[in-house]
Amino acid sequence: MKLWHRLALLAVIPLVLQCYLLTQVKTAQEELDRAYIEERRQKDVVIVIGKAVKAGMDSLSDIVSYKSKRTALKKERSIHHLERMKKLREDMAAIAGTERHMQEVQAVLSEIEETVQSTIDEDENDVNLRDLSKTLRFTKLGRSALSIMEHAQIQQELKYKQMLVVVQAKRKHFDELALQSAILCAVVTFGIAGYVIFLTSKQLKVLKQNSENLARGEKLLPQMKGADELADVDRTFHLMAKSIKQLSERERAILKNSGEWIFAIDSKLRFSFVSDAVQKLLGVKPEELLGQHVANVLGGATDAIEKARTIGVDQVFETKLAGDNNQNVEVQISVHWSDSEHAYFCVAHDIGARKELERMKQSFMAMVSHDLRTPVSANLLTLDLLKSDPSIGNLSDRGKTLVDRSIASNNRLMFLINDLLELERLDSGQLSLDLELVTFNDLIDETLPGVEMLAKAKDITIERDDSNQFIYCESGRIVQVLVNLIGNAVKFSPAGKKVFLKYGKEDAVSKILVVDEGPGIDKESLPFIFDKFKQVKESSGQHKQGFGLGLEICKKLVELHGGSLLVRSELGSGTTFEIRLPIKEV
Ligand code: ADP
Repeated sequence: MKLWHRLALLAVIPLVLQCYLLTQVKTAQEELDRAYIEERRQKDVVIVIGKAVKAGMDSLSDIVSYKSKRTALKKERSIHHLERMKKLREDMAAIAGTERHMQEVQAVLSEIEETVQSTIDEDENDVNLRDLSKTLRFTKLGRSALSIMEHAQIQQELKYKQMLVVVQAKRKHFDELALQSAILCAVVTFGIAGYVIFLTSKQLKVLKQNSENLARGEKLLPQMKGADELADVDRTFHLMAKSIKQLSERERAILKNSGEWIFAIDSKLRFSFVSDAVQKLLGVKPEELLGQHVANVLGGATDAIEKARTIGVDQVFETKLAGDNNQNVEVQISVHWSDSEHAYFCVAHDIGARKELERMKQSFMAMVSHDLRTPVSANLLTLDLLKSDPSIGNLSDRGKTLVDRSIASNNRLMFLINDLLELERLDSGQLSLDLELVTFNDLIDETLPGVEMLAKAKDITIERDDSNQFIYCESGRIVQVLVNLIGNAVKFSPAGKKVFLKYGKEDAVSKILVVDEGPGIDKESLPFIFDKFKQVKESSGQHKQGFGLGLEICKKLVELHGGSLLVRSELGSGTTFEIRLPIKEV
């Protein structure tokens, strides 16, 4: 049975019993009301009978007085009482029920009415004052009216008493009914509540046991049967336990096979978990480290580890550990402090190979800058002398051509060396900026001399916005970026096209746009355009002169300013480069 069915049952059954009780109360109340109305009616009957009999009697006595004393007033009063009696008889008829005495009284009153009326109608001369038989008849009528009235009163009292007995019986029955309903209601409610509680608590116990089993890593109890909500929860719980088991198996496999050394440290700085990778890294078995203080293995790194807890921020640091045969092992350790588990979780990554590569790169760069740059500059000087110093002797035309070609090749080599050195400086963070506020116009004025010759040679017009808006940058570096971007725009655009230099502003960003009408860049190449040595093949399949380093340098220079370099392009619709630089906050 679903949970809500059980709860509904608990609410509905008492409600139905209450409703039944209410209808019983209502019926009993209606019966009481009816009895009360009947009692009133009977009282009214007795009253009206009394009044009518009295009027009849008055009418009789007045007519008797009139007969003996012959006073006109008595006759009039007798008529008056007679009229009143007629009216009361009508009232009696209106409220009459099944009472027998009512008909009897009506009969006597009608006789009185007839007798009085006939007496009134008699001829005055014919009146016999000592008409004994008439007087006797009057008296008889009066008596029977009074006795009927008395009888009616007795009857009414009797009926009232009977009714009282009925009402009391009903009231008693009603009280019994209420008590029985209340008991039934309580028994049924407690019965259902007990059943619901028993069923629910049995299911809850299973759920509790399963949670404990899950926490202890033990087998769960068999899945609950039924279609109620708690059985649903149990089903989901089993599914969850299954996923957790799979996850923890996966986690164990990852920990076991991970190349990184993963370890946990308790709040007293002792190893509480050590992954197998430590054997390969330091040549020790994981179980040898368990329980050891970290200082024995990590030496001075203890402070850095504790920092993760004291300042509540994950720590990453590099350190050297003693490995096999006392060899230094360079590692990068990431530390996370878990408040809930009261433990540090750490990952040590062997960075020996990376460090070696960095050292090699540095020595390569030193070689490029000194061993390659110096002879190339010397070559350029010598070639320049060969070409221009007459004291060396005149070169033949072929000789001049060969020297020019050699100068061009050396220049290309020099550009490449300079670009590589620039990238190295940018990557190693050796480059710092000297930021200032420069207007857009000033930046463009400084840039144009570096690209105008190239543009003129290809008959390309450069159109620029005129704006004195300030841009916060190191002008030399942004000019370097602009020369590169405009140079590319000119280089890749067909002759006779235009290049536009635009200024824009958006929220807290200044924008410089270099827009060309060149061939555009295909969708596939666009995401990699800023990568090292990336060159897009032209439709002819040929590459333009260059090394594919310029855009990477531009991007890094703009990012060094805290900005970004974006590109938008489509084949056949030109290319737009957008330099976005943060506006200086004052
Ligand atoms: P390169 O020195 O070879 O020009 P860049 O890094 O400056 O190197 O540019 C990389 C490549 O991006 C270029 O070889 C070219 O294929 C493409 N490219 C750059 N700018 C444009 C442009 N305005 N229009 C079309 N292609 C461009």
